Amino acid sequence: MENLVIIGSGPAGLTAAIYAARANLEPLLLAGALPGGLLTQTSEVENFPGFPDGIEGVDLMMRCQQQAEKFGAKVVYETVEKVELKKNHPHKIIFTSGESITAKAIIVATGSSPRWLGLESEQRLKNHGVSACATCDGAFFRDKPVVVAGGGDTAMEEALFLTKFASSVTVVHRRDTLRASKIMADRAVNHPKITFAWNSVVDEIIGTEKVEAVRIKNVNTDEITELPCNGFFAALGHDPNTGLFKGQIEMDKKGFIVLHDQSSKTSVEGVFVAGDCADNVYRQAVSAAGMGCKAAIDAERWLAE
Ligand code: NDP
Repeated sequence: MENLVIIGSGPAGLTAAIYAARANLEPLLLAGALPGGLLTQTSEVENFPGFPDGIEGVDLMMRCQQQAEKFGAKVVYETVEKVELKKNHPHKIIFTSGESITAKAIIVATGSSPRWLGLESEQRLKNHGVSACATCDGAFFRDKPVVVAGGGDTAMEEALFLTKFASSVTVVHRRDTLRASKIMADRAVNHPKITFAWNSVVDEIIGTEKVEAVRIKNVNTDEITELPCNGFFAALGHDPNTGLFKGQIEMDKKGFIVLHDQSSKTSVEGVFVAGDCADNVYRQAVSAAGMGCKAAIDAERWLAE
């Protein structure tokens, strides 16, 4: 039986592995379908403390993995198909390969996935002007026009952040009222660099090598308009990767795992959580890493008891 199994290999999972390994817990980390997590999908990370010249997302995650392995964490490239969480451990973890293991404690660090529009052009131009993270990629669009899709707080926050760099920001929203909180909506609506395309959906992202324009359709009139731009940001919300745990761990109505006792504890004894699968607000590499640290410390104390 494993002492501690960490599910997920983004900043939360790898930081948990570093802390748990340094505490001699010999954690086993399951890297999952996207080793290194969402950060490997972005290019340069400029806001992770300690890297004044920035660092590629993939490099940052590889360094974290090396650091965890140096202290004795085992990284296994398996994806979890199913878990059977028991009131009294051990918990059982079944891989897509058919193999299974048992664990005294688990840290869930499965992250979240941005919602995309689902267009072929959106998929093809990812990292070539298409992004779902203004904080990560906004600075690449200095003095260039960009388009943001969505009408929630994320879309407003992304649009406002992008005004620091972009020459103009057009927010495309499918309705004529914003879902965002009033304060965020007011800020965006009153910003001189932000304009809104109401009742409109993005129908196509135009460009062969990189984004050149976004084609939008007015849902009331069917009128088609092309918005020339260099960047397209999908800000349609995130879905937590928690399907595996449905019915076994307490979640909120959006599927984010609920934290107990202001710690990393979940509703299940011996199961802890870190990162974006339990965070619908901050969603930063550094905040996920901080949660990973807390989960490892909580797991260590729980195992010691
Ligand atoms: P939300 O689910 O609140 O908003 C998603 C937005 O995207 C909605 O406007 C929705 O349109 C639109 N959308 C979703 N799917 C599509 C689609 N396929 N095509 C077109 N439009 C689509 O997600 P957020 O990430 O914005 O916010 C999540 C939570 O995090 C909220 O509780 C929010 O308050 C919070 N948050 C708070 C922040 C802050 O306070 N600073 C910052 C960021 C998030 P429609 O409205 O028509 O459904």
